[in-house]
Amino acid sequence: MNLPIEQDNCLVCRNSSLIPIPGYSELPRVTSDAKPFGKGGALHLCKKCATLQKAVDEKFLEESASIYHSYDLYASSSISSQVVFQETGEADRAALIAKKLSPYMKKDLLDIGAGNGAFLRAVSKENETINLNAYDINERKLNVFSSLENFSHFYSGQLEDVTEKFDVVSVQHVLEHIPDPLSFLSEIKKLIKPGGVLFIQVPDNDKNPFDILVADHVTHFYPETLSYLLELAGYEIVEFTREWVFKEISLIARPLDKPIVKSREHNIDAIYHKLLSNVDYLTNMISDANNYSLDQSFGIFGSSISSTWLYGSLKNKGSVCFFVDEDSTKKGSQHLGVPIYHPFQVPKDSVVYVPLVTQTVNNVIKRSKSENWSFKMHFRQLENISAIGGSQEVRS
Ligand SMILES: [Zn+2]
Repeated sequence: MNLPIEQDNCLVCRNSSLIPIPGYSELPRVTSDAKPFGKGGALHLCKKCATLQKAVDEKFLEESASIYHSYDLYASSSISSQVVFQETGEADRAALIAKKLSPYMKKDLLDIGAGNGAFLRAVSKENETINLNAYDINERKLNVFSSLENFSHFYSGQLEDVTEKFDVVSVQHVLEHIPDPLSFLSEIKKLIKPGGVLFIQVPDNDKNPFDILVADHVTHFYPETLSYLLELAGYEIVEFTREWVFKEISLIARPLDKPIVKSREHNIDAIYHKLLSNVDYLTNMISDANNYSLDQSFGIFGSSISSTWLYGSLKNKGSVCFFVDEDSTKKGSQHLGVPIYHPFQVPKDSVVYVPLVTQTVNNVIKRSKSENWSFKMHFRQLENISAIGGSQEVRS
């Protein structure tokens, strides 16, 4: 999307109030399609609106262009149709969102950044009368949609060129990639029918310290900064939740004729210090894993974003004998040329590092006990104190 970018200014509030997060540029990164990516990024916090964002400079744009050029959605199931291990067991994210959105689905749906079509497929299962439409930056995935019943139209190229209107416009795991999220959201208002809604899902940076490592994520949202952006762009939030998918913020919003922006007070000092401790946590995780990787039979738990990042950060990548993934559909496959084992396939007494957030680690440990996994797991806990906004639930 060729939208104007005001260099050196906050991508959201447009003030020249960005402060750099020291130590970030020393951290290796990862791409959103789960490939290791080198260090050298720049992360900024806005002192005015508290939005955490990458420095969108020439280097950033070049790096993201190179990432998207070789983007492979199928390389990782972390992007779409992800198997989410929740308290109740496996749940398909796309089906869950389709169900939650069904009260808003009238006739026409547009899925922006439709990827491999998992969400549209789930909507068509939920309600076969909905006209399904997809938008993606290029036509590479066009054939994915043609097999879908009730598929209406595939849009690509400039979003501004789409002239139709829809009851629901869905933007899942897209907003965090956009260099100018404010203009993007303003543009989308034109695509929503009167009475229609926008659905957004983004990573919850407050619950996921690994998100800053994703090289092609521009903005790293907290509940408060996301709702502020929506208000600035002229939307009223109808439903706002962190409960639908763990580590994700989901919201439903309606366009307003005139923006109504609530004033907010942010404890920038607390947010800044939390970010510094997140950078320390990640840095220490690399040295932990380097130490454990000296073991003869060493593996990394997971095979998507955080595990790929940790793999790419190790001094000796050859020391990783396997990835461990509970998703049985990945059993027998490889990631980065390394085999993926189901926990039951891991050799006895192996050492496995678990680069996951505390709550997920705790769930993994519970399952390891109940299922008698025979390997040792190591992990690092991050004090999960919310520095911003706490939990925010809005329902109308
Ligand atoms: Zn700002």
